[in-house]
Amino acid sequence: MTTHRDLEIYDVTIIGAGPVGLFGAFYAGLRKMKTRIIDSLPETGGQLSALYPEKLVYDMPGFPEVLARDLANEMTLQGVRFKPKLTLGEKVATLIQNSDGIFEIGTDKGTYLTKSVVVCAGAGAFSPKRLDNPTIEPFEGRGVHYFVTDKSIFADKRLLIVGGGDSALDWARNLEATAESIILIHRRDTFRAHDESIDWLLNYSTVQTKLFWELESLEGYGALQHATIVNNVTGDRERLDIDACLLNIGFHASIGPIRDWDLKLEGSAIVVNSHMESSRAGIYAAGDICTYDGKLKLIATGVGEVCIAVNYAKTFIDPNAKLFPGHSSGMTF
Ligand SMILES: Cc1cc2nc3c(=O)[nH]c(=O)nc-3n(C[C@H](O)[C@H](O)[C@H](O)COP(=O)(O)OP(=O)(O)OC[C@H]3O[C@@H](n4cnc5c(N)ncnc54)[C@H](O)[C@@H]3O)c2cc1C
Repeated sequence: MTTHRDLEIYDVTIIGAGPVGLFGAFYAGLRKMKTRIIDSLPETGGQLSALYPEKLVYDMPGFPEVLARDLANEMTLQGVRFKPKLTLGEKVATLIQNSDGIFEIGTDKGTYLTKSVVVCAGAGAFSPKRLDNPTIEPFEGRGVHYFVTDKSIFADKRLLIVGGGDSALDWARNLEATAESIILIHRRDTFRAHDESIDWLLNYSTVQTKLFWELESLEGYGALQHATIVNNVTGDRERLDIDACLLNIGFHASIGPIRDWDLKLEGSAIVVNSHMESSRAGIYAAGDICTYDGKLKLIATGVGEVCIAVNYAKTFIDPNAKLFPGHSSGMTF
């Protein structure tokens, strides 16, 4: 793979274009900082776009309820208001500081220079857990899905959902009115989901729930047509007619390369002080990736943290700059 080297020096580079990174990009623009934002995913929005775009979020100030997808879109619009450089589809691997103090960020595709860094990497670059089953892969993207980014692709489909956690139950609920029919199989008789969702699934939904059943194979000529499932107690097998299969058996989340950046960590989180600064000067962290006494992993707290991080990054690169930026209503855009 060829990589490029961008010699322009940015004031701040934000790693992660989830809700927290996006708000950080907006705030850095407000502080007139030359800003780059990098994400390994091809789209912005982090967990909101990738994991639960069709769920309602109720705890954002100003929004009594908002669809995660809409919140991600609005936060993206706000995040790009001051035209930060968006570098999507690139995973940050290395973070080193040159002798002149400038940080050099290396991705799988390029190298970028910056005076300060705000890490908003959430749970890290995540990927869905996959079953070790060779009959699944040929149908990935052609009937087999790990995320729901567009409900309409399940319209009038006979859908098999595999899983017993929050995601599986939430999607069963969200897709009930869209799909022609839904069968949910789960390998146990206990769920890792909200009690209210379990009650809905078992007592009020039209979803056919089959406990102690596992996916054995997927079959079809060109398109997905059948699933064979096996009962792990009795050994019975059934062949189901299906058009789509949603595998919701969890995610691997790994902060991966961040472990090599010489930052003080607690578990998988970057330890920050009250300035949201990490153990390395000029490198800040905010959102799910950071930790401190009292940390809560919420969007509302993350966007507050990133305001602090960006304002301190501003004074780090310009010690004469004020920390408190003033109120946005008094600023000229
Ligand atoms: C099912 C579910 C429901 C939720 N509901 C709510 C809710 O109702 N209210 C609420 O406040 N919170 C909710 N949350 C939590 C909320 O989504 C997180 O707190 C929030 O997404 C954290 O934002 P973030 O920007 O810190 O991280 P993320 O959203 O995780 O974004 C981090 C981004 O960084 C990128 N990244 C990571 N490592 C790298 C790298 N090395 N290089 C490049 N890019 C990288 C990732 O690809 C990702 O896009 C929910 C979470 C889940 C899973």
